[in-house]
Amino acid sequence: MITIPTNLERDWHQLITAIQDAHPITSVPCLTGDIAPIPTWTSDDPDDQHEAAAACTFCPVLTPCADYAHTYPSEAGVYGALTHRQRHTLREAAA
Ligand code: SF4
Repeated sequence: MITIPTNLERDWHQLITAIQDAHPITSVPCLTGDIAPIPTWTSDDPDDQHEAAAACTFCPVLTPCADYAHTYPSEAGVYGALTHRQRHTLREAAA
């Protein structure tokens, strides 16, 4: 059985709430798919991932999303305008 750490679950719900709160007011690209197709955020194809990351720059939740991904580096997929590989590279550079 997989156990989700309490902090991750709490912060994930906070991020989802922020996305849901923003969505009626303005577009959240990974939710609406109006800038890039929704599957690009979780695609294994680097070209897709970069397309999704570029679409994130229009997102009103960009900062909390990037903070979430920074806090939980094992999370896969595109968060806060960065691919998983880009986040890893930034962590390595900062170490
Ligand atoms: S920054 Fe990107 S991944 Fe995060 S909520 Fe916005 S569109 Fe989705």
